[in-house]
Amino acid sequence: MDIALILTGAPGSGKGTQATHLARRHDLTHLSTGDLFRDHITRDTELGRTARQLIDAGHYVPDELTNEMVRDHIERNAPDGRIILDGYPRTLAQVDFLDTLLDGLIVVNLVVAQAELQDRLERRGRSDDLADVVRQRLAIYATESEPVLAAYRERGLLHDVDGSGDLDEIARRIDDALATGRSIAVDRF
Ligand code: ADP
Repeated sequence: MDIALILTGAPGSGKGTQATHLARRHDLTHLSTGDLFRDHITRDTELGRTARQLIDAGHYVPDELTNEMVRDHIERNAPDGRIILDGYPRTLAQVDFLDTLLDGLIVVNLVVAQAELQDRLERRGRSDDLADVVRQRLAIYATESEPVLAAYRERGLLHDVDGSGDLDEIARRIDDALATGRSIAVDRF
């Protein structure tokens, strides 16, 4: 059995950048729910039209739509479970759904101070990066995603990693956390 990696962190924590590097270094399939939604928006699919309005207002896409999209992507691209999830799961309903898809998980949580997050996002300038929308996204993250972290922490799967500073340095910290997480997970499964 292989172990899937979940990379969590607030909007602006750098999880997308780190997930891309990690996927390359460890030969994993990178699944970013944000990227998948943006792809649907570009292709103007039905899901894309629904997602666009919600994303631009700083809201989440409903769990049912998100879960189905993830299931489909995993079945097509990573049936062996060698995957890195970026931006998923973000709600407890998504945590429960993911448990039905994959069984070995390691969760790395990138920790960055709130003021730095706000600053990074406003500088990035995506269509959902306007100041008001950024505040809304950070607020939703705090209410919806904190219980997700708590659930994984309780299971002993969560590793907090300092997400500030140099990109290579952060990548090294993540690799260290993975090495620790793997040895714990191997004992467990
Ligand atoms: P960020 O981490 O900066 O918010 P993402 O690219 O991961 O950026 O996500 C962009 C937007 O896509 C989110 O604000 C949300 O509206 C939507 N989204 C992404 N992942 C999920 C998810 N797992 N559940 C619901 N909505 C999601």
